[in-house]
Amino acid sequence: MIYDLIIIGGGSSGVFAALRYKELHPNKKFLIIESNKTLLRKLSVSGNGKCNFTNECLDYNIYNNGDNFKFIFNNNPLDTILSFFNKYNIKYYIDEEGRYYPYSNSAKSIQNILINSLDKDEYLLDIKVIDIKKYNNFIIKTNLDKTYEAKNILVSIGNKNYKTLGSDGSLFNKIKELGHTFTDIYPSNIYIKVQEKNITNLLNGLRFKSRLYLYNDDKLIYNESGELLFKEDALSGIVSFNISSKLAYLYKNNLDNKPYIIIDFINNLNYEKLLKEYNNSKNKYDYLLGIVHPSLVNIIKNNENPIKDLKSCRFNISSLGDFDHAQVSCGGINTFELNGLESKIHKGLYFSGDILDIDAPCGGYNLSFAFLSGLKVGEIIE
Ligand SMILES: Cc1cc2nc3c(=O)[nH]c(=O)nc-3n(C[C@H](O)[C@H](O)[C@H](O)COP(=O)(O)OP(=O)(O)OC[C@H]3O[C@@H](n4cnc5c(N)ncnc54)[C@H](O)[C@@H]3O)c2cc1C
Repeated sequence: MIYDLIIIGGGSSGVFAALRYKELHPNKKFLIIESNKTLLRKLSVSGNGKCNFTNECLDYNIYNNGDNFKFIFNNNPLDTILSFFNKYNIKYYIDEEGRYYPYSNSAKSIQNILINSLDKDEYLLDIKVIDIKKYNNFIIKTNLDKTYEAKNILVSIGNKNYKTLGSDGSLFNKIKELGHTFTDIYPSNIYIKVQEKNITNLLNGLRFKSRLYLYNDDKLIYNESGELLFKEDALSGIVSFNISSKLAYLYKNNLDNKPYIIIDFINNLNYEKLLKEYNNSKNKYDYLLGIVHPSLVNIIKNNENPIKDLKSCRFNISSLGDFDHAQVSCGGINTFELNGLESKIHKGLYFSGDILDIDAPCGGYNLSFAFLSGLKVGEIIE
């Protein structure tokens, strides 16, 4: 049989593409080939199992390299996603930071609803695509030594991050053999390893409401406040993940980088007032205990101006965390080889989701892009 469309990778973008294609072309034959034992494996654990699926501030300029994908965000992208969810009767709510979650608070409920909307003969599970060749049609070879033929293919295999959830980049070489190239790829939305292990070790496991400033060569690149979590040798928590998104983009663009982070542990307090009170306080140790956790007090108590150090504590970056724990990858298929989402090299070859050279901080943006790009491919393939 020759399929009209074969979708390699049944994650969020692949499944959204399939559902849209099925809706618009009920008589055409498509097949999803997925290497996991289930579809939508990554979505099922997203947002700590709650699935933060979009954001009220959805716009291309939130994304690294978003400029090249403006066309995905035309015509009210948030509406496009919400209408899709409405169609499948998935109720949702928005939190105070504009993040959308399913009303069930369960990513698995979305996963089940979407899987149940596909027929069993529309997808294959536990089968890995190991090669793609283009003759008149596309010939796809699997690890079970079977081949499948299709007029169009969508490569929605994710990127190089979190291989335990299925995306391992193992097909990238075959995509290169088809003539495509990739930009440098870095782990993103991940903890950041720092050099000051003597400090991180002592604060390991503690959370602080702080503001983080990312500098490169003494130029301020980005700042954000939120909950910071210390790991043994790294800064973690959503605020660090979001800083890592900017950092990954810096590394990718190969600016001669000397990045560092300044942490303001007392972001919401008035520095001058604190300093005055501290200088006038009889028991300076107790005064500091009234502001921050004892473990942090013990680190700064003998410094010349501990209040200044709480306001501006420098951490030198050693590296981003590893791919295996990164939520997304920064970098992907080179955009100039694409006409929209279709390959300029092979007509009928499409890409969607994380494999593309676009990524965003936390907040529902990465799933949103996977959904929107998948829907777009489902719409444009005849
Ligand atoms: C722990 C975690 C939490 C996250 N939380 C959020 C969140 O709350 N909000 C948000 O917006 N984003 C979140 N993300 C990011 C988001 O999940 C991804 O951006 C999104 O899943 C990308 O979808 P995709 O379809 O492009 O890729 P994927 O979801 O990675 O799907 C690709 C699929 O292709 C399959 N595949 C790969 N190679 C092959 C092959 N050779 N043959 C067959 N199949 C193959 C894989 O098994 C996988 O199922 C999170 C990511 C992680 C890791």
